Amino acid sequence: MFHPDLMRHPDSCPTLVLNADYTPLSYYPLSIWPWQTAVKAVFLERVDIVAHYEREVHSPNLTMRLPSVIALRQFVKQSQFPAFTRFNLFLRDTFACQYCGSHVRDLTFDHVVPRAQGGRTTWENVVTACAPCNLKKGGRTPKQAGMPLPIEPIRPTSWQLQEHGRRFPPNYLHETWHDWLYWDVELDA
Ligand SMILES: [Zn+2]
Repeated sequence: MFHPDLMRHPDSCPTLVLNADYTPLSYYPLSIWPWQTAVKAVFLERVDIVAHYEREVHSPNLTMRLPSVIALRQFVKQSQFPAFTRFNLFLRDTFACQYCGSHVRDLTFDHVVPRAQGGRTTWENVVTACAPCNLKKGGRTPKQAGMPLPIEPIRPTSWQLQEHGRRFPPNYLHETWHDWLYWDVELDA
């Protein structure tokens, strides 16, 4: 679904993919396809074209402007609960240390109740932590360490993760995409 190379090379004309209700399939990573995949889906009548690029492709019997936004004809139902993965954990915690709130590059995971004290690896017992906080807390519970968690870790719904994803707009956004995306942060025009 996600092609980081496309975002690094906007000249490649990536296509924003919307669900049948015209909301993006995913905010973070943003759901985009290579235009070749999008064009194929158009011909298979699986998607409708919502907006175009200026750029055209030609075949012997057809000229077509590249789709910049497409919408699936069939609604894709998202599972209610996202998978328990490293990325989703970071996204739930908005890539911030849950103890001090810092957004550092080298984030780690912390077992709230340490494994040595019977803590399990679950949504409710693992949080994102910066290395200094993780080190400071050591093999102690937040209470033992005097480091209370401002937010109780929960198992998020897919909708909640999607909401968090809206805080992370990618560097590249084509102008025709703006009508379909709603970010939680101010974007430079
Ligand atoms: Zn920290």
